Amino acid sequence: MAGKDKHEILIAGGGIGGLSAALALALKGRRVRVLEKAGEFGEIGYGIQMGPNVYPMLERLGVVDAMMPQAVFPDALILMDAISGKEITRISTGAAFRARYKYPYFVIHRRDLHGSILEACRQRKEIALETSKGVAAFENRGERVAVTCEDGSQYDASALIGADGLWSPLRAAIVGDGPPRLIGHVVYRGVVPVDQIIDQSHLDSMVIWIGRNMHLVQYRLRGGTVMNNVATIVSDRFRRGEKEFGGPDELDGIFSQATPRVREMLRYVSRDRNWVLHDREPVSNWTQGNVTLLGDAAHPTVQYLAQGACMAIEDALVLAAKVGPETKDLATDFNRIFLAYQEERFFRTARVQLSARFFGEYIHVSGGARELRNHLAAQRDPDNCWEADWLYRGIEIGP
Ligand SMILES: Cc1cc2nc3c(=O)[nH]c(=O)nc-3n(C[C@H](O)[C@H](O)[C@H](O)COP(=O)(O)OP(=O)(O)OC[C@H]3O[C@@H](n4cnc5c(N)ncnc54)[C@H](O)[C@@H]3O)c2cc1C
Repeated sequence: MAGKDKHEILIAGGGIGGLSAALALALKGRRVRVLEKAGEFGEIGYGIQMGPNVYPMLERLGVVDAMMPQAVFPDALILMDAISGKEITRISTGAAFRARYKYPYFVIHRRDLHGSILEACRQRKEIALETSKGVAAFENRGERVAVTCEDGSQYDASALIGADGLWSPLRAAIVGDGPPRLIGHVVYRGVVPVDQIIDQSHLDSMVIWIGRNMHLVQYRLRGGTVMNNVATIVSDRFRRGEKEFGGPDELDGIFSQATPRVREMLRYVSRDRNWVLHDREPVSNWTQGNVTLLGDAAHPTVQYLAQGACMAIEDALVLAAKVGPETKDLATDFNRIFLAYQEERFFRTARVQLSARFFGEYIHVSGGARELRNHLAAQRDPDNCWEADWLYRGIEIGP
C-alpha cells in the first residue's frame, strides 16, 4: 500500500484548486500527496480572470512574483451591446477600484496561473505529486481514510480532499446528487496574436459584447501579446429539446443578430472544439468523516462572475488555515475541521453560484428587458461597483 506516511493528507485532483490546497497545506508544514487522474498536470490554453479577492490569496501562496510578468491588468471591465455596438456601462479598475478593494483585477493565461502554483508545489518537500492516479473510491475508517485508485493502487491517509472537479466521483459518494445538469450553454474559445485583431479600440480593457442568448468576452494575455476570445451561446436547439445542439452553425446563427464588427470577431475562436456547460444546485453537505470537497467538486458555478477558480483558491487557504500545523501530542480532528471549513465557505460560494446564474440571465436578455437593462446600467458611475463589495472585498483568514 502506497502513502505509508501516517500523517499524510491526500488530495484528489491537481487542477487550480487541488494544487492551491496542496501548497497552502505545505506552507503550514503538512505533508500532502496529490493524486491526479490525467497523465500530466496541466490546464487548457486559454485565459482566466482573477478578481481582487483572490490576489491576497495568491500572495499568501507565494506565487505572485512568478505569475505577474505574464499577467495583464485591464483598465476597465466594459459591457458592450453586441446589437447596437454601443457601450452599455463599465467598471473602471483604476484608482477608486484599487483604493476600495486594495488589490487589482487581473487576467492571466491558465497555464501561467496553474504552472506557477505547480512549480511552487514542486519546490516543497512536503508535497508528493503523482499523475495517472484517478481516485475511484474511499472508505472512512475512523481516524484514517483508505483510498483506492482506478489502477487498483491503494493509499492510507489521515484525510482526503476531493478537488476533482465538476464530475467529481468523491462528490458522488458524499453528496450523491447525480451528474451535473446540462444547461444548453456552449462555449467556443480562441487565442490569437494581438496584431491580428482588426479593431484595436479596446485592447486595454476586458470587454463583454452581449446580445440575446450570446456574448463574446475579450481580453489580452501573456504580457498583452495575445488576445483571449470566449464566445458563448445559449442554445435554442437545446431549449427545444433537440439532442444535437451548439454546433458552429448554431454559433453563427445566434451571432447573426450582432453588428458586423462582432460577427467578424467570431473568426478568433476555434470551431474545432467547444465546451458544453453544466450547473449544479448549491449544497452544504460536502464533508463526510475525514473527507471533504473543494473548488468545482464542492460548488461548481457557471462562469458569468468569473469566480469559479477564485473560489477554489479561497477554499484552499481557508481549509489550510483551519487544518493548521501538525501538533506532536494531539491528533488533528479532521472531521471537525472539515465541517467548520464547509460552514465557513458555504454561503459565500452558494452566493457566487446563484449570482453567476443571475448575471448569465442579465447579459442574455432581449426586447424590453434589454432596453431596461441598458437604461439602468447607463446610469451607473464607472467608479462605483460597490454592489460587488461582498465579493471583491474578499475574506479574512487567520494567520
Ligand atoms: C468558460 C469558462 C470560463 C471560466 N472563467 C473563469 C474566470 O475567468 N475566473 C475564474 O475564477 N473561474 C473561471 N472559470 C471556472 C474555473 O475554470 C473553475 O472553477 C476551476 O478551474 C475549478 O478548479 P478545480 O481545481 O476545482 O477543478 P478542475 O479545474 O476541474 O480540476 C480538477 C482536476 O481533478 C482531476 N480529476 C478529475 N477526476 C479525478 C479523479 N477521480 N481522481 C484524481 N483526479 C481527478 C482533473 O483531471 C483535474 O486536473 C471558468 C469556467 C469556464 C467553463
